[in-house]
Amino acid sequence: MLRKNETEPSPPPSPGRLGEGVKRAAFHVAALVSLLVAVAALVLMARQRDVSYVCRWESTQFTNDGTLVVTRDWSLGSNDGGLVVHRTAVDYLDWDPGIQIGARSGFEYGSHRPRQQSWSDLLPSVLSPTLNPKRTVWCQFAGFLAAKVETNSHWSRGRYVELIVPLWFVLAVASTLPIVWVRYRRGRSRRARLAQGLCPACGYDLRATPERCPECGAPPQVTTLRQ
Ligand SMILES: [Zn+2]
Repeated sequence: MLRKNETEPSPPPSPGRLGEGVKRAAFHVAALVSLLVAVAALVLMARQRDVSYVCRWESTQFTNDGTLVVTRDWSLGSNDGGLVVHRTAVDYLDWDPGIQIGARSGFEYGSHRPRQQSWSDLLPSVLSPTLNPKRTVWCQFAGFLAAKVETNSHWSRGRYVELIVPLWFVLAVASTLPIVWVRYRRGRSRRARLAQGLCPACGYDLRATPERCPECGAPPQVTTLRQ
């Protein structure tokens, strides 16, 4: 007969005390990080009509007279209900190869008004037509987007990649682990109480009354779990 407690999640297999401890710690940390991501997604969803946030890392190389040679940047942000990743890579071709080259990189953070149009959709109209911008959409459905814009001219080559994941999807995925964590903790505390001869539901000492908890009335299921 299947009793109620047997359907609950069992602890992860234990290859050893240390391994199990590390695994459990990693599980706690992952669940916490996941929870923070879920909360962040929820906050961004609540604010999606008013503001979008962007953090951006940029790295450039340039000649000593200031001519750009290479720019690379990554940005992560929110816009119009989506989590957005942008990657920019532009190589400039019209500089003297013998000249000295310097490099600079930096991180910036900002907030803006949300944009209705996607970045890769907007770029071809913003970039100079002489760069011959061309947009390719890899996939687009239900708020997801993966697209790139490529530019080609005799003085530069650029590649702009855009990925959008809708915030509702981020929230759904990030909530999974915290929910599993809560279920796992609940199962663990019930097992710990049973092992000590306490009521799994309320923690009342059942050693004197093993048939039924006098405090909350729950049947103890001690025998089924100890077998
Ligand atoms: Zn009880």
